[in-house]
Amino acid sequence: MQPAPDEDLYTILESSSSASYQELKANYRKLILKYHPDKLNEEERDVSSFEFQRLDQAWKILSNPGLRHQYDTQQRADQLTSALVHDEIELHEMTWHQDDLTYIYPCRCGGDYTLSRNHASGSRTVNCSNCSLYINVSVEQQPDKSTQNDMTKR
Ligand SMILES: [Zn+2]
Repeated sequence: MQPAPDEDLYTILESSSSASYQELKANYRKLILKYHPDKLNEEERDVSSFEFQRLDQAWKILSNPGLRHQYDTQQRADQLTSALVHDEIELHEMTWHQDDLTYIYPCRCGGDYTLSRNHASGSRTVNCSNCSLYINVSVEQQPDKSTQNDMTKR
């Protein structure tokens, strides 16, 4: 069982991200005892097996220096990305460019956010061609080209 992506492994182990290996290990041992199958009756075992696996998963990653480094790096990258998202827009706010089949939205730096039509589904994070900012574009429905053409006025 994989932990949900938004679940912080350090939180699962009730530790801070700067905790040493020894601290993580101590917390893991303390927590795992609470959920150990030998200590529980039948019903409690079912409830706790999820917690048990979560702890085990978190410990497996954080106790391995290579995996922990990878995890930390990924966490930092995620935080950085969300810090740099400076706008949330809807697809229809972008300008449709028939020539290259892309949606363009101007960035405040003078650059452009470019979303190709093939990628215009669901919610997308698009980064500026010129600076390090991102926008989130939400695509509510399949764009209707006849209305998109009205917006081609650059
Ligand atoms: Zn920009």
